Amino acid sequence: MLIDAGDVEDPAQMPLARTVEGILARTAPGLPLLVLHTHGHFDHRAGDGQIAGLGNVEVVPSDLASITRYFGWKIWPDSQGQIDLGGRIVDVLPTPGHHEAHLVFYDRQTQLLFSGDMLLPGRLLIADTAADLASARRLASFGQSHPITYALGGHIELDRAGTTFLGVNYHPDERPLQLTAKDVADLPSAIADFNGIYSRHGDYLMINQNRVLTLYAACALLALALIGWGIGRWWRRRKLNKSRG
Ligand SMILES: [Zn+2]
Ligand SMILES: [Zn+2]
Repeated sequence: MLIDAGDVEDPAQMPLARTVEGILARTAPGLPLLVLHTHGHFDHRAGDGQIAGLGNVEVVPSDLASITRYFGWKIWPDSQGQIDLGGRIVDVLPTPGHHEAHLVFYDRQTQLLFSGDMLLPGRLLIADTAADLASARRLASFGQSHPITYALGGHIELDRAGTTFLGVNYHPDERPLQLTAKDVADLPSAIADFNGIYSRHGDYLMINQNRVLTLYAACALLALALIGWGIGRWWRRRKLNKSRG
C-alpha cells in the first residue's frame, strides 16, 4: 500500500514508480499495490501517473465521491474504514477541514499515524474551520484508544528553532517530521484558537488561504478606489484653479 504519490509527475526528476517497484520486488513480490491519498491536493497525487503505469496496481481517486464509494461509507465524515493488508490492518479516518475529502491513516503494526496536511510541523492550512475542529476532536479521541508512536504529516515547514519556512525549497536546520501522540491530543485546542483567517498557536501557523486571498483582493480594490478618488480630486481642483486664473 502506498499513501500519497507526491509532488513530482516526471519520472526523470523523481523515479517514484521505479523506486516503489524495486521495494515491492524485494519485500512483497507478486502482491498487488493499492494507492490511496491523504487528500486530493496536487502535491500529494502528481505521481499517480507514474504509479498507474506499473502492473497489478489500483489507484483510488482522491475525490470525495470515489473515496466514499471505495470504503462503502454512508455517513461522511462520521465513519471509519479498515484496509486489511493480510494480517496487518490500516485504519482510515475521514478528517475534512484542510481539504473536503482529507483522510488520516493509522498502521496498527507500527502504530504510526499518517496525518497528511491536517497535522504537520509548520503551516496548518484550514479551508473549513468547523469541519477541521470536528476532525481534530475525532482524531484526538481515536488517539485515546490507540497508542501512537509518531504522527507523520505531509510536509516539514519549520527549523529546529521553530521558525516557519515560507515558499522556499532550501530548509537549513530543518526539524524532523515526526510529531507525538501529545500533539494529536492537543490539536483540538490549537484549532479552537484559530481566528478564521491567520493566527499562530505555538509553532503552528494557521491560515485560511481563501480568506487571506479575499482580504488581499479587498485591500487592492480599496487602494485602487482611493487612488482613483485622489486623482479625481486633483483634476477637479486643477480645473477650478484654471477657471479662476
Ligand atoms: Zn494539502
Ligand atoms: Zn500538501
